[in-house]
Amino acid sequence: MLRDIMELDKKYYMNTFGDRLPVCFERGDGLKLYADNGDVYYDFLGGIAVNSLGHSHPVFINVLKNQLDKLIHTSSLYYIENQAKLAQKLVENSCADKAFLCNSGAEANEAAFKLAKIYFYKKGMDKYEIISLDHSFHGRTLATVAATGQRHYQKPYEPLTPGFRQVTPNSFEAVKEAVTDKTAAVMIELVQGESGVHPMDIEYARNLRRFCDEKGILLIVDEVQTGMGRLGRLFAHELYGIEPDIFTCAKALGGGVPIGAMCAKAAAAAAFEPGDHGTTFGGNPFASAAGLAVFDIYEKEGLVENAAKQGKYLKDKLSVIAAKHSDKITEVRGMGLLIGIELRPEQASDVFKGLFEKKFLTSLCKGITIRIAPPLNITAEEADMFADALDSVLTEL
Ligand SMILES: *Cc1c(COP(=O)(O)O)cnc(C)c1O
Repeated sequence: MLRDIMELDKKYYMNTFGDRLPVCFERGDGLKLYADNGDVYYDFLGGIAVNSLGHSHPVFINVLKNQLDKLIHTSSLYYIENQAKLAQKLVENSCADKAFLCNSGAEANEAAFKLAKIYFYKKGMDKYEIISLDHSFHGRTLATVAATGQRHYQKPYEPLTPGFRQVTPNSFEAVKEAVTDKTAAVMIELVQGESGVHPMDIEYARNLRRFCDEKGILLIVDEVQTGMGRLGRLFAHELYGIEPDIFTCAKALGGGVPIGAMCAKAAAAAAFEPGDHGTTFGGNPFASAAGLAVFDIYEKEGLVENAAKQGKYLKDKLSVIAAKHSDKITEVRGMGLLIGIELRPEQASDVFKGLFEKKFLTSLCKGITIRIAPPLNITAEEADMFADALDSVLTEL
């Protein structure tokens, strides 16, 4: 019973998530989630951009079951076939030359900071500062909080890890001003997801790439949310026509099994030598099997192409709805299947609640933007369902 679960949670779980939405899911099937009272919900948030295959994808589940029968974990002391093969997939499908596997987005970003710092350390250069952007989100560990440009995540943890600073996004001038002879790297998201789906200007991203090259600064792209096909290309930096020195990925990489990856070009990657970095669980046989299956299913089912196609279809539909309800919707943003619907602040939370009552799962960013990140295998009919639900919520408001 939901009531019992809520009671247990309140009593025993640390109160980091406060009052959650009053629902507990028992099982899933594709886009659908079944609550323990039998109610059916439509998962347009996809576990916050994680469940790109939908729930309980039969081929995926089979791979996981087979791997469980064989082996879950060995350790980094031995060679791991799935780990090596997943690194191959990441490298052969991106601009990177090497990959390192870990367990989450924050951990992948931590690895990226360490690689950027050790890269200059090994050159005998005193460069350690990392510049990131206001309104960014890079994770909840101490260093990633220091890189996250949102004061409320930082304030209680001061003094913050030194060497991090944030600048205004989409202002090339602001980055140029912030760079010093100590700057090691600039880290950006190409679409800021957590703060409400804000895409970077393409010119800004390209200027930044050029500028980092000129200055010998590493460019790190956080693809934890935008990566693995979310935007209709495997990685966001492909869409922007830039190649980062380092990029990170996590969320959708394991189809729901926790895994993260830090990928880098050869020059940067070479800075990590034996003993410089490590992990107990990272890329273990089970998690890597999940990552390999995700790549496999993407290829067989054309999911990245589907994300581009259905993303455009859905965004176009939402734009029509936005025009119809221009008194309530101020903007529809995003690419592929990462879409933000910005509402007037007075109405945003009612729209979010209205969608939830109609059994559509989304998230509300900054209290004004509804973010959706549905599975990449979504159909046009399912996209229609969401658009219709939003239209009727807005009409009824
Ligand atoms: C979710 C997210 C992270 C943090 O990932 P965790 O797995 O929660 O540590 C980092 N960066 C971006 C852009 C994210 O969306």
